[in-house]
Amino acid sequence: MSHEVGECNICFAELSDNCCTLPCGHVADMDCMLRWLAIQSVCPVCKVSASPKDVIRLFARPPVAETCLKKLMDRCVELTEQLNEMKMRCQLQDRLLDKFKNDDEKKRRKRRLRAFVESL
Ligand SMILES: [Zn+2]
Ligand SMILES: [Zn+2]
Repeated sequence: MSHEVGECNICFAELSDNCCTLPCGHVADMDCMLRWLAIQSVCPVCKVSASPKDVIRLFARPPVAETCLKKLMDRCVELTEQLNEMKMRCQLQDRLLDKFKNDDEKKRRKRRLRAFVESL
């Protein structure tokens, strides 16, 4: 049976950071391995005899690259949100600016009109 590196040999999910190995080198989640060895006294992969006292705790972490990538993706999402917020604020400011410009224009037109009326 083929499996990916970093996959639990019992539940086939991605290995948690609470995982372990046996003297034969096959890895599994700590919980899965202990549950398995409570029923069967062999390695779930190669069937070499094993018991709970053979379990070797592993201090594994998800691959660094994946962790970095995840952090970067999170940061990307965060930055995109910030950017969208800034865009929205810019649009609002543009609209306000337009409104002011229009008001100015109206005032100027009114003034011109009044000056024209007064000159009659
Ligand atoms: Zn598992
Ligand atoms: Zn094995």
